[in-house]
Amino acid sequence: MKLLVTGGAGFIGSAVVRQAIADGHEVVNLDALTYAANLPNVESVADSPAYRFEKADIRDRAALDRIFAAHQPDAVMHLAAESHVDRSIDGPAEFIDTNIVGTYTLLEAARAYWGGTRDFRFHHISTDEVFGTLGETGLFTEETPYAPNSPYSASKASSDHLVRAWGETYGLPVVLSNCSNNYGPFHFPEKLIPVVILNALAGKPIPVYGQGENVRDWLFVEDHATALLKVAQEGRLGESYNIGGNAEARNIDIVRKICALMDELDPVGAPHDRLITFVTDRPGHDFRYAIDASKIRAELGWQPSVTLDEGLRKTVAWYLENRAWWQAIQARGHKLERLGLKAG
Ligand code: NAD
Repeated sequence: MKLLVTGGAGFIGSAVVRQAIADGHEVVNLDALTYAANLPNVESVADSPAYRFEKADIRDRAALDRIFAAHQPDAVMHLAAESHVDRSIDGPAEFIDTNIVGTYTLLEAARAYWGGTRDFRFHHISTDEVFGTLGETGLFTEETPYAPNSPYSASKASSDHLVRAWGETYGLPVVLSNCSNNYGPFHFPEKLIPVVILNALAGKPIPVYGQGENVRDWLFVEDHATALLKVAQEGRLGESYNIGGNAEARNIDIVRKICALMDELDPVGAPHDRLITFVTDRPGHDFRYAIDASKIRAELGWQPSVTLDEGLRKTVAWYLENRAWWQAIQARGHKLERLGLKAG
């Protein structure tokens, strides 16, 4: 297939781009290159004849029309978004603009290109945060009512509704997926897991919100990329699929596991858990997210290939082996700081 991947220079989008090229697809990577983008994430495929890059903003209709006409994709995989919950609290406007207006603009460009006849699919990638928060028990299914709690999740929920409506109203061939917290290589170093690794490495305090009791279901990003490529190609039109890692853990347990891996893989400064520092919780911090991924398993035969422990080990090793990657981000002026403990 020829895939138009939006946000392909970001964390998950770049994993999709790398996997799609490895699977033999052609890829057009459309990205506006915001602060969250990193072209080195796709360096390993950049010279492939199957790869093209288009610097464009999903809010720019003229640019989108030109890109659709020039590349004639079989499917769009839409990942471009403002994705960081904590940034959405400080400045929601960019989230409304990119995630809602941007998705609307992309839908309209896709609808014009599709024209009602072309063999084409629009796959929208979203988050489990649209479902709100869970108590101690229960799982999010595809039928769970939407109840977003942050500006980020409300903007993603809005974009999901637009995609669904474009399918129902105009017949645009759409499919959606909602996933849990991703982690793995190339994760921007203001999110929980990279911050813990890099602060442990630097001997700096490791900030944990509240008592670290919040529970997330952790999905290894390369497993997610495989799932997304399945949904894009084989997902039933009009349906949504929940994608999770079957790997629930409290934030404090994640932090302690990483500290133990650091003790083993980079023992200077061990024990690293002495650096854990509890800080005041952030507003509207959802208590627990957990995904029921039985639909994608039953219909598309996908399930995660790594356990949480295996994925964390691979991730810690990757950050230790790829210092130039995060040092370059540091050199751009980004402080390697966690803005909060709720990854987007
Ligand atoms: P990211 O922030 O790492 O990457 C987003 C990419 O989109 C960046 O490369 C950025 O330059 C690009 N982008 C932003 N605004 C754009 C615009 N207006 N036009 C074109 N490109 C633009 O995000 P991520 O973590 O890779 O998340 C990708 C998608 O997956 C998002 O839609 C996010 O909501 C969703 N998601 C992420 C997670 C997670 O744990 N990271 C969980 C659930 C869902």
